[in-house]
Amino acid sequence: MVETLSYAIDEEDRLIRLDDGYYRFAEENGWEEVSLSLGRSLWDFVAGEDVKRLQRLLLRRIRDEARSVELACRCDGPETTREMEVRIAATSTGRGVLFSARIRSEDERDEPQRLLDPEAPRGSDRLPMCAWCDRFEVEDEWIEVEEAAKRLELFRRSELPSLDHTICPRDSEILLAA
Ligand SMILES: [Zn+2]
Repeated sequence: MVETLSYAIDEEDRLIRLDDGYYRFAEENGWEEVSLSLGRSLWDFVAGEDVKRLQRLLLRRIRDEARSVELACRCDGPETTREMEVRIAATSTGRGVLFSARIRSEDERDEPQRLLDPEAPRGSDRLPMCAWCDRFEVEDEWIEVEEAAKRLELFRRSELPSLDHTICPRDSEILLAA
């Protein structure tokens, strides 16, 4: 199991210096084309306009103030819950930024959650998902995937809703205050 991974971006937000942990983590999680990540823009891998906007703001502050922040986030898969700590730090020279993540805990779910399966077929219904805590917004409430599946009666549906990647209000506040 991978416990730490890191990667850096240059002043133009291109991915440079991916470490072994990054490659192994990508492989464990079935990320395709990871070998092609190097040199690509970080933003090619970030879905959702709100997510990009908040992350750009955060990166700008880190660079302008030449400092670092530490944040907790989730990085779940259909079969796994995963809590991570991410440190985002300005590099000592230029305007590069180093991301280092540590996996704090990893647990198998009782049942796989199709909502988190990137391969599952999706319909035209939309469902907001927070890119930071991996919760879903159902009836104005941000809830864990198991609860969302229950409330949306997913067992009755052949097609899953399409996900709108966003940041929930709680995590927006945390990112803006970081
Ligand atoms: Zn959230």
